[in-house]
Amino acid sequence: MPLYEFTCEQCDHTFEELVFDGDQVACPKCDSARVAKLLSVPGLAKSTSSALPMSSCGDPSLPPCGAPWCQRKG
Ligand SMILES: [Zn+2]
Repeated sequence: MPLYEFTCEQCDHTFEELVFDGDQVACPKCDSARVAKLLSVPGLAKSTSSALPMSSCGDPSLPPCGAPWCQRKG
């Protein structure tokens, strides 16, 4: 979902808004259209790429896990 965070240049109010192409965003507090889009929404920016489940791959006493990222063959 295109959820963006905006800050109002008129009253400095910060709010989140669902925005689709061509939508005009107005401040819900003062109804001003002078709003600036903020680039990141807190809570959505965290990467999960470093948290792959490695399971037993690192333990030589256990058999290879067979996962696509497993380095141990056979
Ligand atoms: Zn405002």
